[in-house]
Amino acid sequence: MIDMEKLVSLCKRRGFIFQNSEIYGGINGFWDYGPIGAELKRRIRDSWWKNMVQERENVVGIDTAIIAHPQTWVASGHVASFSDPMVDCKKCKKRYRADDVPESKKHPKGKCPECGGELTEARAFNLMFQTHVGATSDSASLAYLRPETCQSIFTQFKNVYTVSRQKIPFGIAQIGKAFRNEITPRNFIFRSREFEQMEMEFFCREKESEKWFEFWVNERQNWFYGLGISKDRLRLRPHRKDELAHYASSCTDVEFEMPFGWSEMEGIANRGNYDLTQHVKVSGKDLSWFDEAAKERFLPSVIETSVGVDRTLLAVLVDAYHEEQVKDETRVVMRFAPSIAPYQVAVFPLSDKLEEPSHKLERDLRKHFVSDFDDVSSIGKRYRRHDEIGTPFCVTYDFQSEEDHAVTIRDRDTMKQDRVAVDKVTEYLKEKFV
Ligand code: ATP
Repeated sequence: MIDMEKLVSLCKRRGFIFQNSEIYGGINGFWDYGPIGAELKRRIRDSWWKNMVQERENVVGIDTAIIAHPQTWVASGHVASFSDPMVDCKKCKKRYRADDVPESKKHPKGKCPECGGELTEARAFNLMFQTHVGATSDSASLAYLRPETCQSIFTQFKNVYTVSRQKIPFGIAQIGKAFRNEITPRNFIFRSREFEQMEMEFFCREKESEKWFEFWVNERQNWFYGLGISKDRLRLRPHRKDELAHYASSCTDVEFEMPFGWSEMEGIANRGNYDLTQHVKVSGKDLSWFDEAAKERFLPSVIETSVGVDRTLLAVLVDAYHEEQVKDETRVVMRFAPSIAPYQVAVFPLSDKLEEPSHKLERDLRKHFVSDFDDVSSIGKRYRRHDEIGTPFCVTYDFQSEEDHAVTIRDRDTMKQDRVAVDKVTEYLKEKFV
């Protein structure tokens, strides 16, 4: 399996992911997506939205603000208990998550893994980023950057069901940024301080909630398969009863085998009506559902599906990376499923003299595909570049094209080449992308 250093270096070299504010030395736990990474990320989001919202009659999407009324986070329990236990080294001042320092269990005070120094007692460290809203900076203006996107789904539950004509069971989905002041961000974009989540809350009757839970576990696993990720690198991990939050009756993680071990990509949980109950309690507003047919009012149960865009993207990168020996060279190729590849096609003029007709072809392709025009350096180097960013098809316009009105299309995976009439290229590629 690829080691992470190699992947991080490829991501920088080819414009997938850069360290944030690199010219100032970076800032730990923040990453920027370059031109290729931004395309890939968009493809993952689009795939989720299409699968979870567009293709389902019983799920609607929303898009809410990053900052919410601070009472939101009192109700959700984040102000009181969204924290990790943290220890500091008294000698070198390094800070750790207590769970990451096994010594702290052996020694009552613990020893620093870096310098052997004595560690402080574990203290709860709240992971929410704080800010102030407005001109004053006091406790009344205190606000938080959301640590998850789902709470506004609960607080807007009534507005959404009023306008959407949905009936229980139905879901509300959203994609957006979330922020957590992780004590030790690590493993590249796996654990960062600013990331993106794709979450859906499915509201249903309590007695049907376990059925829907099973349904969504299955649906979510299939979505990962649909991204083209190898099935043997994905697994479901149901939580043991003692791992469950007190309000959750079931929870299953989708895990992917990362170079640093099996890791959580997504959590699917039966949260009962805990969140709605909390918001009713703290806001004093009625968020119940009235079932007109049964003449009853109740707070629905909720199945949550919560997946990270960045973690999914990392899994896609790790899974796509392949090195193979071609003659005496090592070919690095990102075997993305064509449906999520950053560029679907690239057009190369064989020579500067052919720029005009190849540009024309590429402009036509842009109407149908995400396309790149590449005329820099030798054809061999262009192939190498597009293998490394996973472009499934490269079209070369050569001198013969002027005569036979045909171009060469090279398949990324097989490296086989087809000669295709210029006016049939769109059709040829469309068939490959279905
Ligand atoms: P972990 O145990 O790894 O901290 P979590 O169980 O706290 O994760 P959830 O609160 O269930 O995570 O968040 C749902 C999803 O959001 C996770 O499965 C993950 O994909 C993503 N996520 C959570 N924290 C981070 C982070 N710091 N960086 C990137 N993605 C994250």
